Amino acid sequence: MSGEPIRKVIIVGGGTAGWMAAAGLSKVLGGFPGLSFTLVESEAIGTVGVGEATIPQIQAFNAMLELDEAEFVRETRATYKLGIEFVDWLRKGHSYVHPFGTYGVDMLGIEFHHFWLRGHDLGDDTKLDAYSIAAMAGKAGKYMPPDRSNPNSPLSKLGYAFQFDAGRYARYLRARAEQQGVERVEGRVVEVCQDGASGLVTGVRLENGEVVEGELFIDCSGFRSLLLGQTLGVGFTDWSKWLPCDRAVAIPCELGGEKVPLTRSTARPAGWQWRIPLQHRIGNGHVYSSAHMDDTMAEELLLANLDGKPLAEPNRLRFAAGHRQRAWEKNVVALGLAGGFLEPLESTAIHLVQAGIARLLTFWPTTAFGRKEIDRFNRESEQDYIDIRDFLVLHYKASERDDSEFWRYCRALDPPEGLAEKLEMFESSGRVIRDHNELFTETSWLSVMAGQGIKPGGYHPAALLLDDAETRRRLIHIRDVVASAVSQMPTQDDFLSRSGGAIDRQERLRA
Ligand code: FAD
Repeated sequence: MSGEPIRKVIIVGGGTAGWMAAAGLSKVLGGFPGLSFTLVESEAIGTVGVGEATIPQIQAFNAMLELDEAEFVRETRATYKLGIEFVDWLRKGHSYVHPFGTYGVDMLGIEFHHFWLRGHDLGDDTKLDAYSIAAMAGKAGKYMPPDRSNPNSPLSKLGYAFQFDAGRYARYLRARAEQQGVERVEGRVVEVCQDGASGLVTGVRLENGEVVEGELFIDCSGFRSLLLGQTLGVGFTDWSKWLPCDRAVAIPCELGGEKVPLTRSTARPAGWQWRIPLQHRIGNGHVYSSAHMDDTMAEELLLANLDGKPLAEPNRLRFAAGHRQRAWEKNVVALGLAGGFLEPLESTAIHLVQAGIARLLTFWPTTAFGRKEIDRFNRESEQDYIDIRDFLVLHYKASERDDSEFWRYCRALDPPEGLAEKLEMFESSGRVIRDHNELFTETSWLSVMAGQGIKPGGYHPAALLLDDAETRRRLIHIRDVVASAVSQMPTQDDFLSRSGGAIDRQERLRA
């Protein structure tokens, strides 16, 4: 490989993306001789201040950082998340859970859901939720970690993630990063300096005139995309036609309502509302299409649907669905909002930061900045966005709602190619296909396709190998096993107390 090892990495931005990058990269590469990490951020500009629900992959990031889970949960005021409950998405009054983990058990070498579909033919119309420990435990307010010691136990299949306070998460990671030697520089970047010949970024000039120089720059400057978008002029691929929501209003409120380890997404006339219950408060937000609802109405709708007293002023955000055409250009790599954004319907943004960090480590450059590695990085990053986009569009496209202009628009959408194929396959034969190693598994695709009322055109012929009585018996047995496992689980509150993750009453009141 040509070029010299990189010695100076500058991270611009100290939101979730910046501090995840600082903590992750310094943990893995911190011991490299002569390599230093500097993070520049401006308290005056601040962060987006949202981003509180995650997916199970975050466990790998935490493990990489060697975080103590109870400490992490306490420090970030986290709760556990077993999935997302979608309310009113198919039609008003309907709900389903997109759970982490799997449904039932595969039998005779084929996926469980084919037997579930066969059960429908036999008159057993039990919903998928009943076959998922995560869905049933989530609805019952129960939680315990998966029992990996016993692979035959249904509890070994439980998947989980966290819901946490975004500000506390960034501060927690900052402390780890600084312990690992990351230097923090406070200041507003007013100019990005480039080499006249190569166009490579050489430094960032701060308001006080200081220039912070480096060799590799990680753009974590948020929606501004200061280095990648504004300085290097990398364009934006806009997917608004498929995902028309372009605004959000967010507000925390006091605890109230159900205490369940689930994120809730409730469909609204021009978008949807999130509810993320933490230990000390609930995070709420309304994501909507400004072409279909004005800001005042969106805010009123949010405030009218809180489970407790508001704890802050509403935080208004604007965005467009899409991503930068190249996440890596010259010596700048964008992570987080600087690289793109897809609405938080499936809580994927923090995961995209994590995936970007892992990918950057895989293709870690030298000062030669090899074209092959950069191209590959960009291709894989774009694919991540495409995969998630398709999954999000499914939620809108497959609704039966026609009670507003917004929902009529969504239902009439031409699905992107990858989604169209998945829909056709499910509608043709009940098969759920997963491309390459895409983020969302067959369980996820199945839960949302079935939850959103897509009608499967059949099931795997091998599901007929069990006779009618045996099929019915096994389906009932699996539901019983799930129900019995859930009945033995502690409530989430009990588990938090037992595991040392709970904050005390004083801390709750201070929050
Ligand atoms: P920011 O938080 O905006 O941070 C940008 C940083 O750059 C700040 O430190 C700022 O000070 C600094 N900066 C900018 N300009 C300058 C300058 N000139 N000089 C110096 N510093 C500068 N993700 C999830 O995974 N789950 C969710 O549930 C979720 N919900 C979301 C809801 C909404 C409405 C939105 C908009 C996002 C949500 N996200 C969610 C995404 C998540 O919030 C972001 O991916 C994550 O916070 C990363 O943001 P960031 O660090 O890229 O940007």
